[in-house]
Amino acid sequence: MPRPVEATTVAGAASRGIAILGSTGSIGTTALRVLERQRARFHVVALTAFTNVDLLAEQARQVRPAFVGCVQSDGAHADWHQGVDCLIRAATRPDVDIVLNAVVGAAGLDATLAALHAGKRVALANKETLVVAGELVANAAAAGGGEIVPVDSEHSAILQCIGRRPASEVRRLILTASGGPFREWSRDRIAGVTLADALRHPTWSMGRKITVDSATLANKALEVIEAHFLFGIPYDRIEVVVHPQSIVHSLVEFIDGSVLAQVGVPTMELPVLYALTHPDRVADDGVPRFDPVATSPLTFERVRTEDFPAFALGVGAGRTGGVAPAVFNAANEQAVALFLDGRMTFAEIAPAIASALDLLGRGPATDRDRLRAVDAAARAHVLARVGDGGPVSAVAGTPL
Ligand code: NAD
Ligand code: MG
Repeated sequence: MPRPVEATTVAGAASRGIAILGSTGSIGTTALRVLERQRARFHVVALTAFTNVDLLAEQARQVRPAFVGCVQSDGAHADWHQGVDCLIRAATRPDVDIVLNAVVGAAGLDATLAALHAGKRVALANKETLVVAGELVANAAAAGGGEIVPVDSEHSAILQCIGRRPASEVRRLILTASGGPFREWSRDRIAGVTLADALRHPTWSMGRKITVDSATLANKALEVIEAHFLFGIPYDRIEVVVHPQSIVHSLVEFIDGSVLAQVGVPTMELPVLYALTHPDRVADDGVPRFDPVATSPLTFERVRTEDFPAFALGVGAGRTGGVAPAVFNAANEQAVALFLDGRMTFAEIAPAIASALDLLGRGPATDRDRLRAVDAAARAHVLARVGDGGPVSAVAGTPL
């Protein structure tokens, strides 16, 4: 199919087509805000969502994309594509240059693989994709000529600091973590936290699953694994430091001892835009300007690994390699879904992950089918810990 001729151009460059997978979520809606200000450079070709028909319909009215996909639609929109395949169909369209994968959880994996095989840039918010299948993703990019550019703020920061320098010049990556809502809580108090407590993030407004992950620090473990696969840096050269203000988005230490940091107000608009334009920068006056005096002081603390066991479990799974990261991710997704449904307590999340890792966390991650089996087994194992309470309703635990 020939590419449509684009009317709007910047300095002679054709407008680039974007597919947004997960357009109704926190990152998806952020991206649509960013793209509204960049109409001369990008146009939205495809939108997909899981179940939020009303918001998707509203977005489609405003953006008028060529393709709309809804995994579980109510059938009211005859022109929409339905079912899980709609993500892959959106991601591989010839008129799509960049796929913004803003789906939550392992369910985003197949679309990432398909987009990379089709030679697309994948602007990746869906960090679980890399955690579950870092090697498969790298192979897909190599085979198809696609590339991953991270949207996660820490990884965007690292990419911006590293620039074109080779991994051999990097001594250490230092990821920053806000510490979440329980940073200063005692271990006893953390044991009794409620869902409302966990959903009250101090610096970022995000989807429910990642907000809970930020409270357990499982999110930071996922990000350590994500950094390992993105930048090819061994785990013993990736560190995490708590930085409650979320202004320094991460730091890179080079072999000459120089340390570069990327700094700015905590908004996902900037990393979303950078993932689309990398390595270029384009003008955007929609993001609040940085004010060093207003944001001071900036402080750093060690991670309380002893009080946030999900963090060490995740980093350990990364170091173990093979299927362990996929087991960690699936067990965490299932446990968080149960917590969001009120069927598991906050304190039960890490033991459920540990138990799944003990039982299932060894062995090579040879192919897609093996990962699918391991993902299903880890979810079933965690579900069995709470007994049969019927299907899990929270959208945080959709199987691979
Ligand atoms: P969200 O829950 O707000 O949105 C998720 C989107 O994915 C929705 O549009 C939903 O319809 C869709 N979706 C969910 N399950 C699906 C499935 N099984 N199949 C197809 N579509 C599905 O989540 P979010 O906070 O926007 O996070 C999205 C991803 O970005 C996550 O991987 C998260 O870790 C990552 N991320 C988010 C932020 C943030 O600020 N929100 C920051 C960094 C990274
Ligand atoms: Mg992050």
